[in-house]
Amino acid sequence: MFDAVVVRKGDDGKTSAQVEQLEVSDLPEGEVLVSVEYTTVNYKDGLCIGSGGGLVRTYPHVPGIDFAGTVEESSDDRYAPGDKVVLTGWRVGEAHWGGYAQKARVKADWLVPLPEGLTTRAAMAVGTAGFTAMLAVMALEDRGIKAGPVLVTGASGGVGSVATTILAGLGHRVACVTGRPESADYLRDLGAAEIVARDEINETVKKPLEGERWGGCVDAVGGAMLARVLGQMEYGASVAAVGLAGGADLPATVIPFLLRGVSLLGIDSVLQPFESRQRAWERIARDLPLDKLDAMIQPATLSDLPKLGAEILDGQVRGRVVVDVNG
Ligand code: NDP
Repeated sequence: MFDAVVVRKGDDGKTSAQVEQLEVSDLPEGEVLVSVEYTTVNYKDGLCIGSGGGLVRTYPHVPGIDFAGTVEESSDDRYAPGDKVVLTGWRVGEAHWGGYAQKARVKADWLVPLPEGLTTRAAMAVGTAGFTAMLAVMALEDRGIKAGPVLVTGASGGVGSVATTILAGLGHRVACVTGRPESADYLRDLGAAEIVARDEINETVKKPLEGERWGGCVDAVGGAMLARVLGQMEYGASVAAVGLAGGADLPATVIPFLLRGVSLLGIDSVLQPFESRQRAWERIARDLPLDKLDAMIQPATLSDLPKLGAEILDGQVRGRVVVDVNG
């Protein structure tokens, strides 16, 4: 028997999440049985712990869109018992039971061997949010980061915190947009050189183009903030759009694309092929200053997850929640 957070749907259509004991035989099919060590809380997890947000189709359900642990059994040649692995994406925790459990069974194709230098705990301090931040940084690098500061929006959240740390570690001048003035010291500790108030960027401005201000941008917020930022980019600079914490509508014009050659790059972490996932995890092991991770970690256990799910949806979680599933 092992512990898992199980979400059940009642006859009234309402969902509830609680820690329950499961058997290995309860787990869905897959080639690799993993003894999970750490998992995290991402925005999607908040949805899956709660009403499902359209992501979960069948109940009972075990959420957890990412986890790291040790292979316990494998019928696939690529993995053997004792191997350390990390998983993000592939709709695990949504369409397939995920990491909010002491054991998970998944397809071998979905796993990545943990790169040397990363512990399972550090991998989950990074998690899907940090993995996505690295994909965003790699996308900006592919297009060329310009001379000006690199803007990170939603900076004190998971994606923003890791993006700030990676970019500052790579030597870029990072400007962080935050709606929480009390996060300024935290963001400076991660490497931010400049703090920009959310209200300043959200202020309504009719002009489609403003002064060239940013040499690149990792945007976790979308909505009106992304629209405004597009008009502030340097000539030929790119914005890597990661999320929609501030809304899905994009009230922008085509002018920044036409007159400034700005590129808007969409980042999807879910269906990344193995090679790019492995490359991103290797870059994380190499380029993320691991000593910064402790500052962004909020530790938790499985029993904290129902409450944390609601908090992340409410924008109250700072940095990364790292869940010790055996804690
Ligand atoms: P978090 O909730 O940890 O962070 C989001 C941050 O955005 C908050 O901390 C806050 O930062 C800011 N924010 C929240 N609400 C608003 C608002 N109404 N207006 C402006 N800013 C706001 O989430 P994550 O960092 O984990 O994820 C960020 C987004 O990226 C989510 O939409 C998520 O679904 C998406 N995502 C996408 C992935 C992909 O594959 N494309 C993968 C992972 C996440 P502050 O207080 O500093 O302003």
